[in-house]
Amino acid sequence: MRQIGVFNADITLSLDYFSGSSKESVIANLIHEVLHSYLAYTGDNTLNSFQHKIISEKYVNPMAIYLKTYFSMDIKDAYALAWSGLSDSNAYNNNTPNDTEYLMSNGEHITAGEIATIAGLYNLSTNDPQNNGYTKGTKICN
Ligand SMILES: [Zn+2]
Repeated sequence: MRQIGVFNADITLSLDYFSGSSKESVIANLIHEVLHSYLAYTGDNTLNSFQHKIISEKYVNPMAIYLKTYFSMDIKDAYALAWSGLSDSNAYNNNTPNDTEYLMSNGEHITAGEIATIAGLYNLSTNDPQNNGYTKGTKICN
């Protein structure tokens, strides 16, 4: 039964996918999936790539500002996490090559390459060879 003013969605997160991830990455992914559910709920029940276009245009800024505030994190890190998962969006792909810049709320820019590198540090385990034993963010469990 639907309640007025209440939005319900079932979101399933894979433990394997988040093994070694940071809390920051999990929250960013959860917000991303909530946005998919919300867009479907409000009638944008279309392809992931079209929803990614909407997310990239309308939700990257508020998501990054939320992450920056909630985790007291660097604004560039917050934008990297907000942009991660949107690499199939037009806003992302129309701006190749990798050194293309995206505007952040503080007037500075982040490049596509920085998005991939920074988000990877939050997403990948210290055991991942790509990270050379270095990660960012808060461990999910000790
Ligand atoms: Zn998505």
